Amino acid sequence: MSQTTAQTLKPMLIQGEWVSTPGQEFDVVNPATGTVNYRMSAADAQQVDLAVTTAHHAAHQLAWRNMLPHLRARLLMAIADGIEARKEDLARCQMLENGKVWSECLAQAGSAAATFRYYAAVCETMVSEVTPSRGAYLSMTRYEPYGVVAAITPWNSPLTMEAQKVAPALAAGNAVVLKPSEVTPSGALLLGEIALASGLPAGILNVVTGLGGVTGKALIEHPLVRMISFTGGTATGRAIGVAAAQRLIPTALELGGKSPHILFADANLSAAVDGVVDGIYEGTGQSCVAGSRLFVQRQVLDEVLDRLMQKANGIRVGLPDVADSEMGPAASFAHRDHIERYIQSARDEGGEILAGGYRPDAPELAQGAFIRPTLIAGLSNQAKAVREEIFGPVLCVLPFEDEDDLIAQANDTTYGLASGVWTADYQKAWRVADKLQTGLVWINTYKQLSISTPFGGYKDSGLGREKGLSGMRLYQQSKGIYWSMNPNNMP
Ligand code: NAD
Repeated sequence: MSQTTAQTLKPMLIQGEWVSTPGQEFDVVNPATGTVNYRMSAADAQQVDLAVTTAHHAAHQLAWRNMLPHLRARLLMAIADGIEARKEDLARCQMLENGKVWSECLAQAGSAAATFRYYAAVCETMVSEVTPSRGAYLSMTRYEPYGVVAAITPWNSPLTMEAQKVAPALAAGNAVVLKPSEVTPSGALLLGEIALASGLPAGILNVVTGLGGVTGKALIEHPLVRMISFTGGTATGRAIGVAAAQRLIPTALELGGKSPHILFADANLSAAVDGVVDGIYEGTGQSCVAGSRLFVQRQVLDEVLDRLMQKANGIRVGLPDVADSEMGPAASFAHRDHIERYIQSARDEGGEILAGGYRPDAPELAQGAFIRPTLIAGLSNQAKAVREEIFGPVLCVLPFEDEDDLIAQANDTTYGLASGVWTADYQKAWRVADKLQTGLVWINTYKQLSISTPFGGYKDSGLGREKGLSGMRLYQQSKGIYWSMNPNNMP
């Protein structure tokens, strides 16, 4: 694929070819400057059909389906090396499209390479099982690919999300049709280019770009798609779950969150406040695991609010490619409007805005979708800004009295993705972690993640677990085989 400029139309990747749909295009905008990066071709139902049919045929080629695990692992390692070699190009795609600061984009590109390496190792070492038999037969469980996996990703951390889906799906022997967010499509295309150059057969990884309601919808409804792996908002995930249920195909749904971050009075306040600040403001708060509801034990509330105000006011909001910027813009202008509506709702419901709540006034940021890190106190656990996912740099702080009160408030949410607990009392940490209804709990730390630990939500935060060994099993179906040792003597 050639270098692009603001006027370039970027094509998509189907069957190893770069193709575009005449007349169907959309703009990809840099949220830090408001300028159009490039135009992107949008796949209509016909092109989605071509991509899925291509993937279906590719998935059933014996050379791919029966590729020996050590050779498949070698291919995944080659893709990892390709990602590493083009880390800066991938990071730039993301920075220009969602406005994350450069250091974070670079780290996420590195983590995408690490994900391919991890699933290369999983592919080579994961075993089938011989199960206990109850007669003169051998019984075993084999794991086989589904065929075509539709992978649909959001805009907040596309490089990591796309690697988290594509690497295990390929390791398991599937073919993939990847539909990235219309806000951040080009990293996925570059991943496709890297995979092809690394020796992945044409048609095994296809990338279709376009809007969710057109391209995404055509993809999830395609009869040859055998599994859907989706990361995005809960409402979209629910609709995809319904469509998949109609067709009786499995889905993995990684959805939204409203994670409780909990600070007991006996915690190391300085470390805890740093963890809280990173936990909400990193990535402009556009993280599914953002600790957006902070519960502070009443006796340290004032001190914690003072410390948080200082930290939030000190965050350097700036252009993502400027070295000392700590926080970039919201990923789009529409998303900044959405964040601002929640801040207004907090004001309307009696919340006190202790920091931020407005756009920065630096002239160089005037054309971008910037918003200051925002700290809100005085809301009840029932307020709109406390209950709904804002997905922005907005922290709502609520007091709690004791453990029972805390657990009741923290679990009083439809979401259940992540939580964090800060305390010096290890028994309390254990008790609270046990009672929190979330798929992840951090104790005296926050947002530490490892590719080897399964990740996913309770309640409306999703279904299934990505990452780890279970992340590979998501993309496999099991086949039980009974093999008689005594065929002349049936029971
Ligand atoms: P979104 O649900 O609007 O879109 C996600 C993807 O789905 C995009 O590619 C979009 O084009 C596509 N899509 C939209 N409608 C579709 C339809 N009808 N059929 C098929 N595809 C469709 O989400 P977003 O705004 O891009 O991302 C933000 C959301 O993602 C937040 O809620 C966040 O919490 C969630 N998220 C969750 C995780 C997790 O791992 N749990 C990680 C990151 C983001």
